[in-house]
Amino acid sequence: MTTDVTGPPPIGQHFDWADLPAKQQPTWGDAEALERAVTTLKGFPPLVFAGECDLLRDKLAAVTRGEAFLLQGGDCAETLDGVTGPNIRERIKTILQMAVVLTYGAGMPVVKVGRLAGQFAKPRSSDLETREDVTLPAYRGDMVNGFEFTPEARAHDPNRMVSVYHASASTLNLVRAFTTGGYADLRSVHTWNKGFLAGPAQSRYEQMAGEIDRAVRFLEASGVADAEELRRVEFYSSHEALVLDYERALTRRDSRTGLPYNTSGHFIWVGERTRGLDDAHIDFVSQVHNPIGVKLGPTATRDDVLRLVDKLDPEGTPGRLTFITRMGAGKIRDLLPPLLESVGEVAHQVAWICDPMHGNTFTSPSGHKTRRFEDVIDEVAGFFEAHRAVGTWPGGIHVELTGNDVTECVGGSGALDVADLGLRYETLCDPRLNHQQSLEMAFQVASMLEA
Ligand code: PEP
Ligand code: MN
Repeated sequence: MTTDVTGPPPIGQHFDWADLPAKQQPTWGDAEALERAVTTLKGFPPLVFAGECDLLRDKLAAVTRGEAFLLQGGDCAETLDGVTGPNIRERIKTILQMAVVLTYGAGMPVVKVGRLAGQFAKPRSSDLETREDVTLPAYRGDMVNGFEFTPEARAHDPNRMVSVYHASASTLNLVRAFTTGGYADLRSVHTWNKGFLAGPAQSRYEQMAGEIDRAVRFLEASGVADAEELRRVEFYSSHEALVLDYERALTRRDSRTGLPYNTSGHFIWVGERTRGLDDAHIDFVSQVHNPIGVKLGPTATRDDVLRLVDKLDPEGTPGRLTFITRMGAGKIRDLLPPLLESVGEVAHQVAWICDPMHGNTFTSPSGHKTRRFEDVIDEVAGFFEAHRAVGTWPGGIHVELTGNDVTECVGGSGALDVADLGLRYETLCDPRLNHQQSLEMAFQVASMLEA
């Protein structure tokens, strides 16, 4: 990382963060414990390198130009207990399978970004949660407090940020091992399908994997394919930059250029609830040089988009800024085309990707927060229609998913019913597509890309 010295030397690790209002922050209480945790985090090595963030920015520049497609996916909320080898492996396999389906179907590069190794903090609609006359602080993700409904667990504890750092480091370590150590070799596309429940999407995948095998063998035999290139896959990490104490403590100056990077993840985004133009989150991401995203919900205006671009990407750096729209299946066809049109050329300066999850959540009669697979697909279809109507590029999808066979979203070819939600409902926050639904989604989106 330090071999390419192009800029001024690092000028220390001190940052003067602007004192601006910050929404959705923990109330840590114990100032000394906070100070200790932040000092500890500041002393830890970076989780990602600035040079890797730059590589991802270049990949996202190709997305902006309409030459690549972004696949971003993972849990709504990672948990400390969920950081196990099998969980991480199944999630990576699922994303790699989806990427293969998309690449093969669309014939274009797919940029792979996990919603992992840092996705431990959640914005909530209420600070408090009441159950049977007992009111406690709401669960804000394992970075802040515990899910268990007791005063001890729900207290905000800054030491959790340190635990999250370690959990993220071990997650990334395994991700790097899987993606560069031979497991992600394109010559083993078949093996990624092993261990999953059989279903129509899995059979379809098997068939496609057979075709890919033959194509790869042909390229190898012809001396066209580079064995090293086939062996590894580029995979990046991302999460919502929500808890500023954590994100700021992991911000470092790049030893090559002296520029600040958030080293807690390659790509970070600001959520729909914290994207206020004059608030601390937008100020924070404006100061780091990572590629960044901002979520845009149904209330986003032309003015919001223009001012965000002005603040976050004033020089029009290709790949710097991605808008993640999450309008809802019923609204996207009405809201997105005029928004894209109204911002003119600016719509071509940034990448646009679709989060078809967060505008389509409802509560089942059983009390489970869920989503319909068909609504999720419909929002992506509306997203493609909107961009094609306006002449902008539908650059990718942002999905909450797991490699496990959970029952959290209804529908799909397995026809998961609302009555089945209780069978294996494991998320502590929003419902995720299971392995079968994720793979099915990839096939459907691949055909939208081909159309
Ligand atoms: C999320 O991505 O889990 C989330 C909270 O999304 P949004 O900011 O779009 O509501
Ligand atoms: Mn979510």
